Amino acid sequence: MTLLIKSIDDLARQKYDVFVPTMGALHPGHQSLIKLAREKSDRVLVSIFVNPLQFENQDDLARYPKTLETDLKLAEAAGAAAVFAPSYEDVYPGEITKIDAGAIGDLYEGASRAGHFSGVLTVVKRLFDLTQPKIAIFGEKDYQQLFLIKQMVKKFNLPIEIIAAPIIREADGLAMSSRNVRLDEAGRKSALIISRALREDSIAQMHAVLENEAGFTLDYLEEIDEETFLPATANSKNKRVIIAGWVNGVRLLDNKRMGATG
Ligand code: AMP
Repeated sequence: MTLLIKSIDDLARQKYDVFVPTMGALHPGHQSLIKLAREKSDRVLVSIFVNPLQFENQDDLARYPKTLETDLKLAEAAGAAAVFAPSYEDVYPGEITKIDAGAIGDLYEGASRAGHFSGVLTVVKRLFDLTQPKIAIFGEKDYQQLFLIKQMVKKFNLPIEIIAAPIIREADGLAMSSRNVRLDEAGRKSALIISRALREDSIAQMHAVLENEAGFTLDYLEEIDEETFLPATANSKNKRVIIAGWVNGVRLLDNKRMGATG
C-alpha cells in the first residue's frame, strides 16, 4: 500500500531520495515520471497539492480536477513509496515570501498568466525544503517551468539534481494533461491540431496547419533556444518549438525539440 502522508510532522519522520511534485488528477504522464524516479531509487515520494498561488484564473483553480483516491492507486501502480498531500496551511504556514521568476518568468506562459511562475517556484522551493530530496523529476511537457526550476536550483545552490522526463501522449498525439478531461468531443478533436502542427518542419508550416482549425485559438508559437529560453538565433545549439493556446477555453501546451545545428 502506498503510504499517504498528510502532515509535515509525519513527513519529517521519513526520508525519500526522489521527489515527483504534481497537482494530482494523475495520468500516465505523471506515472512515467514516477517510473523514471523508481529507476533511481525505491524511495520515491509523490506530492499532490493544487497550489492556489500559481493560478491567475480563479475559475481554472475551482475547476481543477480532484481525484485523490484514484491518484493513490495510480501512484502506487507506478511505484511510489508514498504520497504527500499537504494542507494549504502546511505549505503556507505564515506570510508567503514569493520567489521572483525573473525575466523569463514573464515570457510566453508568464505573459498570459501573470504571477504563474512565481507561484510555481514558490511552491516547488517550499516542497523541496520540506521533502529534501536528492533528485526531483519534472516533465518536459511544461518546458518553461522545467527551465525556471533548473534556474532556481542553480540560483539558490540547492543540492538537488533535476531530471527531465519526456512528454507522454495519447495514442493520437495529444499531450496528456489533467485538463484534457474538460474538453468536449469536438474540442478533443480540435486539440489534435497542436501535435499535428508540431510534426511540421518549420514554424511557417506549423502556423499554416493551425490556421485551419477554427476550434483552436493560438496564444504563442515560438522557436526558442533551450539554453536561454529566448527566441532561437542562427547561433542556437538546441532549439525547441513551444506552443500554447485554448480549445473550449481550456489552455493546452505542447513543445518539440527541433533539429540541432552547428
Ligand atoms: P501537474 O500535475 O500538471 O503540475 O504536473 C506534474 C508534473 O508532471 C510536471 O512536472 C509536469 O511537467 C509533468 N507532466 C504533466 N503532464 C505530462 C505529460 N503528458 N508527459 C510528461 N510529463 C507530464
